[in-house]
Amino acid sequence: MKIHEYQAKAIFAEYGIPVGKEKVATDPEEAKAIAQELGLPVVIKAQVKVGGRGKAGGIKLVEKIEDVASVANQILQMTIKGIPVKKVLVAQAIPIAQEYYLGITIDRAIRKPVLLASSAGGVDIEEIARTAPQKIIKQPIEPSIGLLPFQTRNIGFKLFADSQIVNEFSAIAQKLYQIFWDKDCSLAEINPLVTIRQSQATSPRLIALDAKIVFDDNGLFLHPELADLQDPTGEEPNELEAKKAGLSYVKLEGNVGCVVNGAGLAMATMDLIKRFGGEPANFLDIGGSSSPEKMITAMKIILSDKNVKAILINIFGGITRCDDVAQGLLAALKESKIAVPIVARLTGTNEAEAHKILNGSQVIPAKDMAEAVQKAVALAK
Ligand code: GDP
Ligand code: MN
Repeated sequence: MKIHEYQAKAIFAEYGIPVGKEKVATDPEEAKAIAQELGLPVVIKAQVKVGGRGKAGGIKLVEKIEDVASVANQILQMTIKGIPVKKVLVAQAIPIAQEYYLGITIDRAIRKPVLLASSAGGVDIEEIARTAPQKIIKQPIEPSIGLLPFQTRNIGFKLFADSQIVNEFSAIAQKLYQIFWDKDCSLAEINPLVTIRQSQATSPRLIALDAKIVFDDNGLFLHPELADLQDPTGEEPNELEAKKAGLSYVKLEGNVGCVVNGAGLAMATMDLIKRFGGEPANFLDIGGSSSPEKMITAMKIILSDKNVKAILINIFGGITRCDDVAQGLLAALKESKIAVPIVARLTGTNEAEAHKILNGSQVIPAKDMAEAVQKAVALAK
């Protein structure tokens, strides 16, 4: 479960990680009142649960009180990466000296949490990993022991020259791990963590300017206190609809829409699309059980992504019956005209019935997975 920046910062504050003065607003007048209370300049930030809001124009510095409402209004009208902005955070602007990265996630290869820190903050960690991998400091965390103070001080000394800042950094890292551990997170991230530009030495010198927390859904039942944080605004609308229908859907950047049953087969399908020079538009697992409705919802979700140029259906029928999938597909085709080509590979339970059902429709059959993927990739080009 993802939460908003302002919600994550409230958790930071509760644990003693320094954050600026800020409040969330849902309309321009409210934003103005908050700015008045905090004092100018302020930074107005779109509250959507994706990164890269800054680059997308969803974060604006405002110097004058008379501009606050119009800038807030402009951001509230935006759609960032397909997500309509419903809330803005109005934050006292912080004069930044330098931006750092600090995050904790699970390293699946070592099966432990790992702390990542970098002096190249403000950009995505994936981008730092690509452009300056030597700038990422990695500290594996032994879960039975925890993150030890000497480890975080050690990293602090690699990043900062000033011992006061090293101590502050170490305390922040410790608290971030405490949050990660207490709340069963899969990600707890501060990007950027900044040093404050100032003339005389005051405290704190380090402050969390952004906050991202993702809770592990499998741990949510242990945390009834987190239920209140659930807020469907600021999330990818298709991912929400899919969740409601019992499908796992993740939007990606490519143009081959995929409908697959089983997460493993879905991953293998995406690999094969890439192998044949294509790019998947999504990950979609329609799950083990079969019902024609799932297929209809799946097609609707995929087609609402305007990047999709071809649809690939890859079903290995076990409990999922191929004829159910075919019925659903036919119903989806009846419901609305589908302009993009559809390639289907249906094999396993009731395969022959499925082929009979689809015979004469616009669906292009394929006898195996490789053929289906190649056809879909070619048609998407
Ligand atoms: P993201 O783009 O979604 O990760 O949003 P962030 O909250 O990380 O903000 C993006 C960038 O905006 C930061 O890296 C900063 O450079 C800038 N920014 C955000 N808040 C402030 C602020 O209070 N003062 C200043 N000067 N810059 C800010
Ligand atoms: Mn950020």
